[in-house]
Amino acid sequence: MGGATAATDVDARTDDLTARDEGSEPVEPTDPDGAAVEFRDDVSVELVRSAARDADVLFAARVSTKGEQSLDDVEADAQRSAGLINYLMRSRHGSPFEHNSMTFYVHAPIFVFRELMRHRIASYNEESGRYRELRPVFYVPGPERRLVQEGKPGHYQFVSGTPEQHALVERETREQCTRAYASYQRMLAAGVAREVARIVLPLTIYSSAYVTVNARSLMNILSLRTSREESAVPSYPQREIEMMAERMEEEWARLMPLSHAAFQRNGRVAP
Ligand SMILES: Cc1cc2nc3c(=O)[nH]c(=O)nc-3n(C[C@H](O)[C@H](O)[C@H](O)COP(=O)(O)OP(=O)(O)OC[C@H]3O[C@@H](n4cnc5c(N)ncnc54)[C@H](O)[C@@H]3O)c2cc1C
Repeated sequence: MGGATAATDVDARTDDLTARDEGSEPVEPTDPDGAAVEFRDDVSVELVRSAARDADVLFAARVSTKGEQSLDDVEADAQRSAGLINYLMRSRHGSPFEHNSMTFYVHAPIFVFRELMRHRIASYNEESGRYRELRPVFYVPGPERRLVQEGKPGHYQFVSGTPEQHALVERETREQCTRAYASYQRMLAAGVAREVARIVLPLTIYSSAYVTVNARSLMNILSLRTSREESAVPSYPQREIEMMAERMEEEWARLMPLSHAAFQRNGRVAP
């Protein structure tokens, strides 16, 4: 989904919003380069670099018993390799899953990064709202996003909202983001520093960051940030961080299929 608006300059924008306060039809602003304010309902995750194979788990585990010779054995017996990885996962012998690395480029709303960065066993570098002007890209829940929460804390169920609730969320989000971005632009145009002007921007504005993890730390993220019936310890994450985690899981499963299968088979518990 993408959305947006007509092009005007900063002064016209200010006039438009003033007029709107007086009861005129709203006119949504653009950024100074003329780009439209954009609304998205997705989270993008791109694997930009990796050194991550099931073989990395095996040689790390086999050094205990075979030393350097273990490197020669890695591809030798696929069934035995799968068995060993499953054993390591089941017995929570976790350190062999650390000898690998995946770097993701994540483009997501700031409220997703706020949750993601609670995962301390990862490395982050995020774009700066002090050193660059933030782009007018905002998250608004898509039509399939369940809107209504039922149940007690920790065991929430989410059910679809009514068409009216969906329309309300979309309208309110678009309106508030558009107005906030116009305020941001007015302050920048008046010479206010980016680090001050940004304080009016909502958490639904997109940010971007590189996130580097190893398979063990990623499994910890997946165990907590995805909701699966087969999980031995169920978790109930916010849907938007789950969307990010699902994309990371797809990439990891492609790189390390045996490790991913063992994670799945053993209740999605990080070893
Ligand atoms: C559904 C859900 C709801 C949540 N709600 C809230 C909330 O309401 N408020 C809130 O503040 N947070 C909340 N969190 C965040 C949560 O408490 C964790 O901070 C977050 O999930 C990161 O998990 P972690 O510490 O295992 O990850 P990491 O920081 O990546 O740590 C990985 C593992 O390393 C070990 N470890 C890391 N650091 C330490 C340490 N200092 N001491 C001992 N062991 C360590 C632990 O075994 C840990 O599991 C929520 C998380 C989820 C999934």
